[in-house]
Amino acid sequence: MGVPTLGCDCVVCTSTDPHDRRLRPSVLLRWREPKNGSGQADGREHTVVIDTGPDFREQALRNHLTRLDAVFYTHAHADHILGLDDLRPISFTVFREGRPIPLYATPETIAVLERIFDYTFSPQATYPNRARVQLHPLGDSAEACGVKFLRVPVIHGEMEISGFRFGRVAYLTDVSGIPESSFALLKGLDHLIISALRHKPHPTHATVEQAVSWAQRIGARQTWFTHIAHDLGHEQTNRTLPKNIRLAYDGLDLAVTL
Ligand SMILES: [Zn+2]
Ligand SMILES: [Zn+2]
Repeated sequence: MGVPTLGCDCVVCTSTDPHDRRLRPSVLLRWREPKNGSGQADGREHTVVIDTGPDFREQALRNHLTRLDAVFYTHAHADHILGLDDLRPISFTVFREGRPIPLYATPETIAVLERIFDYTFSPQATYPNRARVQLHPLGDSAEACGVKFLRVPVIHGEMEISGFRFGRVAYLTDVSGIPESSFALLKGLDHLIISALRHKPHPTHATVEQAVSWAQRIGARQTWFTHIAHDLGHEQTNRTLPKNIRLAYDGLDLAVTL
């Protein structure tokens, strides 16, 4: 819901700690190619986003996002997709370079995106300024500019949705269960980003306790909790967590190995 949560004046929603202001969850991955074998990452910059929620525009502005090589979608709930239309100006730039922005999602997610953004995706769409984007059904993995994004199936209430692993990092949001077969895809991580909504049980999201136990089993060097409700204050919650598990926050910047 974002924090502050509309209509709420609890201690977290009224906190003055900037870490307690949370836009909807998303990840931006940026990397540079080595210039023809120089070994230095000084070549072209590549950018990939996972989910474009209702706050995508604000997040893109904060991070000076001017072009995008691909978007991956975890699932089609509003808080993960409703910023899709704000891809338009960036997609015009990318399209002038020669192609629409590829959007990777499962067939189930694609079906919802096609319905909600009918004026973008329908073969009959005539709206001239629609986003220059193209849906690609996601199988076990997809590649964007030479980086492999491995789909990690996770359970979200009654749905199976997509988490992603890229290099030594995994991003799993809206998790209420992890199939046994997905743990095998999560070995050897430097960073695990996983959702932990609150302490009180929820039908479609893990509690902090559940997320801590998965984090310990997965054993990443560092775990970051995301998709955090207003029940959890940043400082107070961090004091109670094991030392290699921390709440993520808006603007958190990590150096990762791809
Ligand atoms: Zn969801
Ligand atoms: Zn969500």
